[in-house]
Amino acid sequence: MLTEQEFEQVTSLRSKSVGASDCFGPVLAEYERITGLKETNPNAIYHHRLSLYGPPCQFCGKPLRTPQAKLCGSCMKPVCAKERDVPAKSHER
Ligand SMILES: [Zn+2]
Repeated sequence: MLTEQEFEQVTSLRSKSVGASDCFGPVLAEYERITGLKETNPNAIYHHRLSLYGPPCQFCGKPLRTPQAKLCGSCMKPVCAKERDVPAKSHER
């Protein structure tokens, strides 16, 4: 999983190699350098971005599947509303 800074670092390498037959080669190499994982599908890197996910589940610690998740996709426990940025009753204002 990449932080925003790491994601920018990895994906910025793609534009440097426009026109090359293997334009994702440097992207995959940088991803492997940062994470230690050898990824062969460039599209997968675009999904391994922390900002696409929510905060860690308060019960199991796995990242929520989206920042708006109301339920943990791993342990299926509800996300506590008071830890969210948006108050639960904001629509009543
Ligand atoms: Zn959980």
